[in-house]
Amino acid sequence: MRNQEIARIFYEIADFLEMEGVQFKPYAYEKAAITLETLKKDVAEIYKEGGKKALEGIPGVGKSIAEKIEEYLKTGKIKYYQDLKRKTPIKMEELTAVEGLGPKRAKVLYQKLGIRNLKDLERAARTHKIASLFGFDVKTEKNILEGIAFLKRSKGRFLLGEILPVVKEVYEKLKNLKEVKRVDPAGSVRRMKETIGDVDFLVITQPGGEEKIMDFFTSLPGIIKIWGKGTTKASVRMKEGFDMDIRVVPARSYGSALQYFTGSKEHNIATRKIAMDKGLKLSEYGLFRGPKMIVGKTEEEVYKTLGMQWVPPELRENQGEIEAALEGKLPKLIDYRDIKGDLHCHSKWDGGTNSIEEVVKTAQEMGYEYLGISDHTKFLRIEHGLDEKKLSEQRKEIEKLNSKLKNFKILQGAETNIMADGSIDIKDEALKKLDYVIAGIHSNFKMEKEKMTERIIKAMKNPNVDIISHPTGRILKRRDEYQIDFDKILRAAKETKTILEINSFPERLDLNDQNIRRAKEAGVKMIINTDAHHKDQLRYIEFGIAQARRGWVEKEDIINTKPLEKLLKFFK
Ligand SMILES: [Zn+2]
Ligand SMILES: [Zn+2]
Repeated sequence: MRNQEIARIFYEIADFLEMEGVQFKPYAYEKAAITLETLKKDVAEIYKEGGKKALEGIPGVGKSIAEKIEEYLKTGKIKYYQDLKRKTPIKMEELTAVEGLGPKRAKVLYQKLGIRNLKDLERAARTHKIASLFGFDVKTEKNILEGIAFLKRSKGRFLLGEILPVVKEVYEKLKNLKEVKRVDPAGSVRRMKETIGDVDFLVITQPGGEEKIMDFFTSLPGIIKIWGKGTTKASVRMKEGFDMDIRVVPARSYGSALQYFTGSKEHNIATRKIAMDKGLKLSEYGLFRGPKMIVGKTEEEVYKTLGMQWVPPELRENQGEIEAALEGKLPKLIDYRDIKGDLHCHSKWDGGTNSIEEVVKTAQEMGYEYLGISDHTKFLRIEHGLDEKKLSEQRKEIEKLNSKLKNFKILQGAETNIMADGSIDIKDEALKKLDYVIAGIHSNFKMEKEKMTERIIKAMKNPNVDIISHPTGRILKRRDEYQIDFDKILRAAKETKTILEINSFPERLDLNDQNIRRAKEAGVKMIINTDAHHKDQLRYIEFGIAQARRGWVEKEDIINTKPLEKLLKFFK
């Protein structure tokens, strides 16, 4: 698939154009990039089948962008992009990855200080060259250094949302080989961690099938380097930058190998200790008493022999699951099929890619019973935020669509903005008319702890606000949580009966696992939403559910596992 490569170039073009102060065009490129990222079909294939006309048929791709895609598919280059880069030779992606540093500021830094990349930027910030520039100050300099430190910490980790689609594709291919008897991804992918280092596959082969599997694995599309290839093990680097290993394991050891390679390290240390206390030895080869192997074929029998319940991979972090499994008290986790509808979706009304009707169609395909449209409101003007009048126009469209639907209901919500003083950017009378109201922070992220906490609590006290979206504001690999007193937030949520969101967007996953667990323990209800800006992003729900499971959540804790009538009772 060339889709991701081209999307990345379009994002960069958008940044370069924004830097030049060009109007509207950056938005068009960004929109095309989002579409390409979520497109299931390979653009190369679309082009092969229908030429440039077919490319123009992709939503969000106009004539000029279709030409660029064609050029890239034919020559591997886009001249327009090359020219932009030549004009301002900076590493745009690297620089704008620093929180708070947009294309326009990057340009100033290049023009005044010749900063081209992250290294230049760090040096300039450390030697205090930035603070004296017009439009910058000591605080920006400090923020830049913090941003760089944050980037360094998350280097070498990949978002689950980037990796999982690749893993699933490889898994399907391996599963369909006749030489493969069984295959599983292990490691942090199986535990559905929010970021992933590398990927391990375990395989049981048919007799004599090893060689075929090694050949197949090392010739997968997207491999840029083969680290090693033996008879039962191989290791490769994918073009996305992460490594994948495969190992063939004997059937009698498969369970213990799967347990071992799934991890985490902390969980494994604890299980090995339990084995030792019983006079046994647990390794990737099996559970042994002296030289004799007792069990090893399945994970279930390994855990059972240790006197434990089988532990769902998402819980294997040695955060209390060992003790619970020994006592037979593991939670009954929410299932990946328990969600009945998504209440945080954007539509064309605020600049999202799809019409309400299109998003609804996907929701129906996913087996949902309801869907809530929650477009941005007026404060977010770049995202075409809706005002009171537009909201009531949207209401009419939703009512019309609802009158045609059977066994499905569209709800009208809105993702309003919590202003710096805690007020909401839409009038109460208009909020009252919505089925539910989401409020979120989209500005002034760097407030001091007490003020930020008060700001959110004030929003919760608004009698119309039902849900707080992405409550801690973190962006993985980019921005830390904002400063809040989470215990205070939990207490206020409980008092005001406000629902906290688990946002499934791969970069957000906010609340995180620890906070989810705290919310559950405090008796605060949560909702798992996707924040989809494109209909296909409704499928991100899987990541949010995984996160909820990692936070020990049960079906009861999540309001959108309920049928519509019961769901509505949770709203003020
Ligand atoms: Zn938001
Ligand atoms: Zn949103």
